[in-house]
Amino acid sequence: MAYKENYPSVLLEEAVDAISSLPGVGRRSALRLALHLLKQPVENVHHFTSSIARLRDEVRYCRHCMMISDDDECAICADRSRDHRTICVVESVRDVMSIENTGQYHGVYHVLGGIISPINGVGPSDLTVRELVARVAAMAGAEADASADTQPEVILALSGDVEGETTAFYIYRQISGYGVRVSSLARGLGFGDDLEYADELTLGRSIVNRQIFRP
Ligand SMILES: [Zn+2]
Repeated sequence: MAYKENYPSVLLEEAVDAISSLPGVGRRSALRLALHLLKQPVENVHHFTSSIARLRDEVRYCRHCMMISDDDECAICADRSRDHRTICVVESVRDVMSIENTGQYHGVYHVLGGIISPINGVGPSDLTVRELVARVAAMAGAEADASADTQPEVILALSGDVEGETTAFYIYRQISGYGVRVSSLARGLGFGDDLEYADELTLGRSIVNRQIFRP
């Protein structure tokens, strides 16, 4: 029979269940947090829970780049001073935040929402690859009309591990026919390093010194 913790209250036990469902939070920590919340002013706890409920209920994603946004267009896509002909493709919202923190990138983004991983059952159709291809196609079409002198560019800013490389190669094959320049981060990052863990200086440098993607 499994060990059963002895809670004095079903309400407390339910709160511990909920808090410990978060990644990296064990039941012992969850109990400490639940007891901490009990000691806080009731309005603080209501603010805490409602901010999480509102995040889940009301969050939106930018219709262009799939970044988390309060509107249907994010602040980056809405900024006309940015280079909209350079799209940096990343795995997650956190990668956008990391790259923005470097201050070294002035184009726009495309958030894939994950990475191709056969082991975890994640295929291209689970990501926003189709939306990316549509953006690239539209950009290439506009390019042909405008006959501008600089080539549009897609930067594949994905991790250097097998899954990142598989994803980069898949996307490359999808977009290489559109006449866009495809580049990837300079390998200042160690293999397998997640972008979110790279320090800002290294990450900023690897964007500035990006290289033509070679499959
Ligand atoms: Zn956007």
